[in-house]
Amino acid sequence: MSKELADLTLPNIDKDISYYEELYKPRDLKEGEVVVRFAPSPTGFIHLGSLYISCINKLFRETKGGVFYLRIEDTDKKREVENGISEIVNSLAQYGIVFDEGMVNEFDEVGNYGPYVQSKRKDIYQAYVKYLIAEGKAYPCFCTEDDLNSLREEQEKLKVRTGYYRSFAKCRNLTVDQMIEKIKNGEKYIIRLRSMGDYNKKIQYKDGIKGEIEFPENDQDIVILKSDGLPTYHFAHVVDDHLMRTTHVIRGDEWISSVPLHIQLFTMLGFKVPKYIHVAPIMKEEDGAKRKLSKRKDPEAAVSYYTQEGIPVISVKEYLYNLMNSNFEQWRRSNQDKDLSEFEFNINKMSPSGALFDHIKLLDVSKNAIARMTAQEVYDLGLQWAKIYDVELATLMEKYKDYTINLLDIERTGKKIRKDISKWSDLRDVLEYMYDEIFLAKEYEYVYQTINDKNEITNILNEYIKVYDVNDDKDIWFNKIKDISEKLGYAREVKDYKEHPEKFKGHVGDVSMVIRVAITTRQMTPDLYELLKALGKERINIRIEKYIK
Ligand code: GLU
Repeated sequence: MSKELADLTLPNIDKDISYYEELYKPRDLKEGEVVVRFAPSPTGFIHLGSLYISCINKLFRETKGGVFYLRIEDTDKKREVENGISEIVNSLAQYGIVFDEGMVNEFDEVGNYGPYVQSKRKDIYQAYVKYLIAEGKAYPCFCTEDDLNSLREEQEKLKVRTGYYRSFAKCRNLTVDQMIEKIKNGEKYIIRLRSMGDYNKKIQYKDGIKGEIEFPENDQDIVILKSDGLPTYHFAHVVDDHLMRTTHVIRGDEWISSVPLHIQLFTMLGFKVPKYIHVAPIMKEEDGAKRKLSKRKDPEAAVSYYTQEGIPVISVKEYLYNLMNSNFEQWRRSNQDKDLSEFEFNINKMSPSGALFDHIKLLDVSKNAIARMTAQEVYDLGLQWAKIYDVELATLMEKYKDYTINLLDIERTGKKIRKDISKWSDLRDVLEYMYDEIFLAKEYEYVYQTINDKNEITNILNEYIKVYDVNDDKDIWFNKIKDISEKLGYAREVKDYKEHPEKFKGHVGDVSMVIRVAITTRQMTPDLYELLKALGKERINIRIEKYIK
């Protein structure tokens, strides 16, 4: 009887589920190996949380061995955008997230368990739906929008749980003959699961991060096949995770309350239930309250934000590692020179509650990550960013390539490492005053610290022009500043000044500050000796003249 109903509901489906079970054989995995997946919808927006979850999946697969694949969940056609798949693939690839199997762009895929995009798997889902109908575990439902609305109103009036279940599930209680008749009469239908769950009973399972979880059983006759012939997320992912032989479902914890339904679906279909690992979302604190990092409210929720701001890939990755495993920070401190891949990620160390997004911390992590780069890397990555987001700067960086690399190399090794760059957009501030094209064109306000008399400043600078020699080593260079200091009535050593302030106009530090500010307009710069050397005598002269004028 149900077989007849199944044939009538899905007449074009001629393959039995045994065909697919045979086609997608269990994988040949070694002991302990895993099959995990990242399963986004191609909505054109890549949330930081998605990067986070895909990164966790990737690391899990790396530590265990096995397969990590990309499956595109596009059964909700309304949310889809053009090139959504390529965008996902490219954004993740930027962060080193590459897949063993799955979609590689809108059309192509690799692997033997495809298609890896749900809209191309219609026949597969329908075969399993047909199987469930034939088994009496699913049925066509003819309720209209209006029917469902009045059902909800009725339930609200009765103060009972809303939904399509048990005695409220009108079509569930039709006889097979009645269903057949309705279909033959051309009535429209969707397919619902015939749930055998009892809401008053509990189902337990052990989550890989959250631990023991208990929920009421699912008794809702959820929709498994929509009127467009596509399955709902719940049904599709169960069929896919089974046929793609997923061993661990690692996903956002917004799905945790659906686990009873998912386990029920796996069981009713006769599939082995995978292990579940639910990741808490990245949170944000606002006005003392915590909430999920929001696509609508927080620009930093978009992965593209980091690209635009020029926060390097490595910084974002290191920051996410911080959120994943709290021991990462300590590891990084003790292993400054190690590559990120050497860190041993442990999924069991993930917190069951959401990690807090902290912008200041991110920039701090980033500053340290950039401090570990060579000048050449800073130049290359910075230029790549500037070419799109600060074209004037990029042009100068390219025109003065060696000069720029020299500048970026100042204080990059040794005891005192510079940490003045936490994102590529900081490069403008770090570099612009060293390019004459910008420096000479701009009117600066020169703010000295102690010496403020214009004539005195001019004296110091005139003396300095006379003696500066680009070939001096650092000691000779500094001695010359000391000589000038002494000549003009300033202490050679700061400590002399501190002991007898009445004897001097100031000290060598004040004189150096005059030189620094006049030539750079900044009170704070990387090592002055190195900066001057990079500029060279001619440019120094021009700058001093600009000031004196
Ligand atoms: N398409 C679902 C999402 O984007 C996937 C959830 C899952 O990983 O099962 O949230």
